[in-house]
Amino acid sequence: MELYLGIDLGGSHISGWLLDRNGNTYNPFSKRGINGAKLTITELICSLTELIRDMQFTAQGYGCIIKAVGIASPGPLEPNHGIIISPPNLLHIRNLKVVKLLQERIGYKTFLINDADAAVLGEAWLGAAKDFKNAVMLTLGTGVGSGIIVNGRLARGQGMGGEWGHTTLFVPWEERDCSCGRLNCLESYLGTKGLQTTYRNLLKLEPPESGREALLVPTVMDKYCAHLVEGIVNIVNVHHPECIILGGGLVTSIMVEKVILQLKVYRDLKLGGLLNGLEVRSAVNPQAGIIGAAKHAINEVFS
Ligand SMILES: [Zn+2]
Repeated sequence: MELYLGIDLGGSHISGWLLDRNGNTYNPFSKRGINGAKLTITELICSLTELIRDMQFTAQGYGCIIKAVGIASPGPLEPNHGIIISPPNLLHIRNLKVVKLLQERIGYKTFLINDADAAVLGEAWLGAAKDFKNAVMLTLGTGVGSGIIVNGRLARGQGMGGEWGHTTLFVPWEERDCSCGRLNCLESYLGTKGLQTTYRNLLKLEPPESGREALLVPTVMDKYCAHLVEGIVNIVNVHHPECIILGGGLVTSIMVEKVILQLKVYRDLKLGGLLNGLEVRSAVNPQAGIIGAAKHAINEVFS
């Protein structure tokens, strides 16, 4: 049987898992630590090659072969050209032609995908959005990402689309700088640093380092959810999804409940047609990125 290897490249780890076309997983799950601040291109390629070779033995143990490899990486990247451009949490990885280098070393067809896109593919295949053909996943953590599924397919334009975190929010009398050079991007409200700015503005106190701890203050949580709901309504206006999935380290069940309540207020005002029936759910699969990377490889092989 042919298996597909999903790999998740993060700032502190590289993980891999084998799946077949039906979504069955083949253990062991592989996870190895890296130091994203120090990791060089040579070290990264060596680590990826070792992981793929280990998984090759795992596949052989099941009497299977690896058909293709999908790699989920933090952006920015050029998925169509297989290039990781400049992820902020991998400081020495710049303009890396990861697909070309790995294919030369190991010979498997290899495909690159943005980690937010991989997460939504994983949730749409085997997670919170598996009953929906149109879904958007919003990832709230240090950065803010999004992945969009339209009619069952990943929608990313020429390859780099879906940057919901860098669409802007109108907040009267306020200007927040974003790392992308614009003002008042959603990331500057919903990313960890943005949340800390909100905390500082509301309480006139230095915020805790942990975003989840900052969200324990009810007024901070309420303001954060108000910003989040504005961002959700923006993306609903553009894509009219059936389901919004909230994932990432800042998301809590209380946040999801508050967002659902606030969206009901919008629905009862003017946006009923767009918001009727909209499901808002927490992400359920902690390995959605790996699963989505494997699914991306499957989709590309059979496209
Ligand atoms: Zn921005």
